[in-house]
Amino acid sequence: KAADIECQMVVIGAGPGGYTAAFRSADLGMDTVLIERYESLGGVCLNVGCIPSKALLHSAAVIDEAAHAADFGVDFGKPKINLDKLREYKQKVVGQLTKGLSGMAKQRKVRTVTGVARFVSPNELEISIADGGTQLLRFQHCIIAAGSQAVKLPNFPWDDPRVMDSTDALELAEVPKSMLVVGGGIIGLEMATVYSGLGSQVTVVEFMDQLMPGADKDLVKPLADRLKKQGVQVHLKTKAAGVKADKKGITVSFESASEGQKPELESGTYDRVLVAVGRSPNGAKLDAEKAGVQVSERGFIPVTNQMRTNVPHIFAIGDLVGQPMLAHKATHEGKLAAEVAFGEKKEWVARVIPSVAYTNPEIAWVGVTETEAKAKGLKVGVAKFPWAASGRAIGVGRTEGFTKLIFDEATHRIIGGAIVGVHAGELLAEIGLAIEMGAEAEDIGHTIHAHPTLSESVAMSAEIHDGTITDLY
Ligand code: FAD
Repeated sequence: KAADIECQMVVIGAGPGGYTAAFRSADLGMDTVLIERYESLGGVCLNVGCIPSKALLHSAAVIDEAAHAADFGVDFGKPKINLDKLREYKQKVVGQLTKGLSGMAKQRKVRTVTGVARFVSPNELEISIADGGTQLLRFQHCIIAAGSQAVKLPNFPWDDPRVMDSTDALELAEVPKSMLVVGGGIIGLEMATVYSGLGSQVTVVEFMDQLMPGADKDLVKPLADRLKKQGVQVHLKTKAAGVKADKKGITVSFESASEGQKPELESGTYDRVLVAVGRSPNGAKLDAEKAGVQVSERGFIPVTNQMRTNVPHIFAIGDLVGQPMLAHKATHEGKLAAEVAFGEKKEWVARVIPSVAYTNPEIAWVGVTETEAKAKGLKVGVAKFPWAASGRAIGVGRTEGFTKLIFDEATHRIIGGAIVGVHAGELLAEIGLAIEMGAEAEDIGHTIHAHPTLSESVAMSAEIHDGTITDLY
């Protein structure tokens, strides 16, 4: 059968991985097609992930800052929340970015097709076009960037609009009086921060024995303390078991994660429930077997350090190739896959991928964590600078933070770092660079940091490590 579309490169999915791959491929001169199910480019991140969540978190942070301003002698009074305006603002932010992407695709002559792609052979895709009908596309190279989806716990009544995943929660249909967040990971806690900021009474249940499993426990404490002060109830080692929906609300019963023990909370009735228990990859939804591409039982697509699947001209990137499911990992992989497909002799060389929770305070970490170092028996030194000793943190009334560096005991090279506090996500970049460059703690200590800044805390940690600073005051 003659193909409706022929191209050198086809990219499936226009999330951060896919659009980056398509743009890079076109910039290298390959004739590129980008297939996306939805009209709006940008994938989960721009439409229903990173970007709208940060727009809403900004509003929550402003409310919080205004509430605390009374301590500095400025009283803004009770905030008046205009939900329509707030949604409009969020949509404007999203629209500005997604429209920008469409413009960039046009500029580069990337052909975008709105539809759902499935493999029919190792060099062909069938696209169910959004407007109806199907098209056959024949390609030389393919990059699969179909992303992931929120895990939907099976016993929840998903046809009830009061039961939400993160996409529903970002729509902000209302500010419910009470809300349960199932899952105390980054996404759950970011949404808890938004809704609690807007005035909901939020309860968070987490199966593990700490919030944000993956981050060191000490990092999470300042956030847990602040959430508590704000009235957010947190129950650890707690599992949502039974669910019943009726006129009163969504009633959820809980079990303890430790067998035979009573849960901290036995049941509760909530106006809305957000389930944020992780995301599952979309690898198994593409008929990849028809192209001979291996997909794991969980739907991940295994790749080499050049992002190739087991079929050499087909690549895969982003959330569907594995953890961490983060936008900046996807973009990095997208660029690499396009360059390798073009013939460049490259492979994945990044040492670390940073993680940031944009909660209040923010929590950010990169490289080896203290917990990992212990588990692996690594010989490390840990230097921690409390922001209670930072002039800038004191000045802005946010002394609960701290900065931590983890370095190899023998070489003093930085191998990890973490920050909790306002703007932690921005401050983390320096530590990532230090790790990539093989910097020693002394290198950071010798670098003059502007005073008074929060970034000084990174230099202070480095100096604590070599004994230059022993008395913080
Ligand atoms: P995706 O963004 O998932 O895009 C895949 C695209 O493929 C989708 O648009 C989908 O419609 C399309 N698609 C799938 N199958 C087909 C098909 N068969 N045919 C055509 N199109 C198809 N990450 C961060 O780094 N920072 C954050 O602050 C952050 N915040 C987040 C907040 C929330 C609420 C959520 C849910 C996620 C957040 N993430 C964040 C994660 C981030 O969104 C993902 O890691 C990122 O979007 C993954 O990019 P991707 O290119 O792999 O796929």
